[in-house]
Amino acid sequence: MKILVAVKRVVDYNVKIRVKPDGTGVDLANVKMSMNPFDEIAVEEAIRMKEKGVATEIVAVSIGPQQAQETLRTALAMGADRGILIKTDGVTEPLAVAKLLKGVVEAEKPDLVILGKQAIDDDCNQTGQMLAALLGWSQGTFANKIELADGKATVTREVDGGLQTLDLTLPAIVTTDLRLNEPRYASLPNIMKAKKKPLEEKTPADFGVDVSPRLTVVKTVEPAKRGAGVKVASVDELIAKLKNEAGVL
Ligand code: AMP
Repeated sequence: MKILVAVKRVVDYNVKIRVKPDGTGVDLANVKMSMNPFDEIAVEEAIRMKEKGVATEIVAVSIGPQQAQETLRTALAMGADRGILIKTDGVTEPLAVAKLLKGVVEAEKPDLVILGKQAIDDDCNQTGQMLAALLGWSQGTFANKIELADGKATVTREVDGGLQTLDLTLPAIVTTDLRLNEPRYASLPNIMKAKKKPLEEKTPADFGVDVSPRLTVVKTVEPAKRGAGVKVASVDELIAKLKNEAGVL
């Protein structure tokens, strides 16, 4: 069984985001970039499937600038077998990413594609669903458990108010939720070994996909700063404040 994993290079989750002064987006100059955390979970899950002997090959794909190569190398150091970088400049929207991934799927013919549930930079939560629709494949989103057996994937999903379990016929698309697993750190010997693993470079033209943006960002603003708290002397004062100032009672 072959597994394809989509990994996006995003601003590291520890970085305090700065908005560009002209409000056109987030300032990425000299900012630490890392693999999207949900994609680390996707890579980890694929590796565990390989370790269990269920999967035989893991191919990691990234769409982005040349530096997204580093994200692929991280996936290779964790345990993926091969990488594919599709080089794009600027923002590549989920629909374009999904079309490119469809092209990779058609060329690679994986049995399972694992993506993150969302990229922490744009928070779109769209790519996996769009890819499933473009391919006409089954999908299990927000997975916190995946079991593979007899040509199907049993996926437990985190939904509002509980868990839902689905049986998906393979090939299928799965997107990861936070509690699926705890990704491993790549060891130094594996980081060294990953430098020698195959990494192919492609362009959107190789897949005949137009990646020009279809959305216009109107403005980007920082969240409002939280004001300082106040101490209240009594429950009555608290209730009065909640009623009259916060307007929540
Ligand atoms: P999004 O729909 O943008 O929130 O992204 C959901 C998931 O799609 C991510 O967690 C990745 O697995 C995948 N994805 C999105 N954009 C890219 C990209 N540029 N390269 C590789 N994978 C991506």
